[in-house]
Amino acid sequence: MGRPAHAAARAPCRRARVGGVDGARRRHRLRRPRSPLARPRAGLPRRADAAAVDQLPGAGARQRRRHEVEEVPLPPVLPRRRHLRLPGAVVRRLPGLRAVFWFGELIARGTLRQQRRISPVPAPAPVERAQAAYLGLAIGDALGASVEFMTPKEIRHQFGVHREIVGGGWLHLRPGQVTDDTTMSLALGEAILAAGGVDAQRVAEAFDRWMRGKPVDIGNTVRRNLVAFRRSGVPESRPSEHDAGNGAAMRVLPVALACFGLPERQTIAACRAQAHVTHHNEVSDAACETLALMVQDLLAGRALHEVRARRVAALNERVPAFAGTRRPRENPSGYVVDTLQAVLQALFASDGFEDCLVDVVNRGGDADTTGAIAGMLAGACYGLAAIPARWLRALDPAVRAQCAAQAEALLGACARQPVA
Ligand SMILES: [Mg+2]
Repeated sequence: MGRPAHAAARAPCRRARVGGVDGARRRHRLRRPRSPLARPRAGLPRRADAAAVDQLPGAGARQRRRHEVEEVPLPPVLPRRRHLRLPGAVVRRLPGLRAVFWFGELIARGTLRQQRRISPVPAPAPVERAQAAYLGLAIGDALGASVEFMTPKEIRHQFGVHREIVGGGWLHLRPGQVTDDTTMSLALGEAILAAGGVDAQRVAEAFDRWMRGKPVDIGNTVRRNLVAFRRSGVPESRPSEHDAGNGAAMRVLPVALACFGLPERQTIAACRAQAHVTHHNEVSDAACETLALMVQDLLAGRALHEVRARRVAALNERVPAFAGTRRPRENPSGYVVDTLQAVLQALFASDGFEDCLVDVVNRGGDADTTGAIAGMLAGACYGLAAIPARWLRALDPAVRAQCAAQAEALLGACARQPVA
């Protein structure tokens, strides 16, 4: 029986499947263009001589060298002997070779190791870290709001592990909707950009407008002191031992961005100006300043362990209550010490953005604020690439756009004009 036509059509494919080193080299030879300087084959006319090559477009001495010696890729199976065809100048620079011979191809003997070019992943730029911090703040807020005021046991019972932005919670939020942590930060950022710095009067007026907009959530201390501002017109609330909540710390990010690159004392002064509108308390001040300086350190590319040694040790020394426990801080309250203990434990116990946020919100309690602060720090630490795409997609699109734009604007503003 004669060979069918389709079998003949498949024949080249069978030859192409020849495996191993020989097969790879044979296929390479089949594809390799013939050098214009190669010896002419018997019976065939010479295609180009040396003089004619120089007249070819793009041809010259370097062009001829590329044709004379070409590289043949080999598998790394010969530890003591490698057969290479490389430009001689390259071979002479390779380390560990004892001898090089010419046998129609270069034969290099020695302990040549396979060299691999590895492109290092570039560290995120400050503006990218700033955007990641702002988006991390909003994502942590939206993620944690679903389980705010729940205990870890209740979360396990309802969600197993809570790791998706699904809305709900006691505020009955839409999926991706954020609470006061994010919206107060955005209001503060707008005030800083409009005033060209952190001006307490402008900040208090911005917070007052925010409260008149009937936000979905508002803390008792914030409400009380903003009502007092409406009556008195004084933007700085009175010192109070009852103002050690986390309401000022949760919105400190715009200050950290606006003061990035400025002397530390200006960051501290700006932190106090914005915080004292609603929270005039030494413990709250310590938390706000530490968080702002940690964000700035991370924006500058400092390693997390270095930031911890630099800032957290100073915080514990200044307010020993922050170092009060080594046990996992579960069900953290709105007291800023509880909040920061949960956040810092999650941040230093994890090695990624998602792990950090999942850890902290599953501790329950004031989970939207712990999520927001942890997201801010983790975003600044790990950058945009570490934020899961599903969380970015789930976030309210308007909030997402505002956070990204404001982060860039605040970072640019600090370079143009100092904080008032
Ligand atoms: Mg909230």
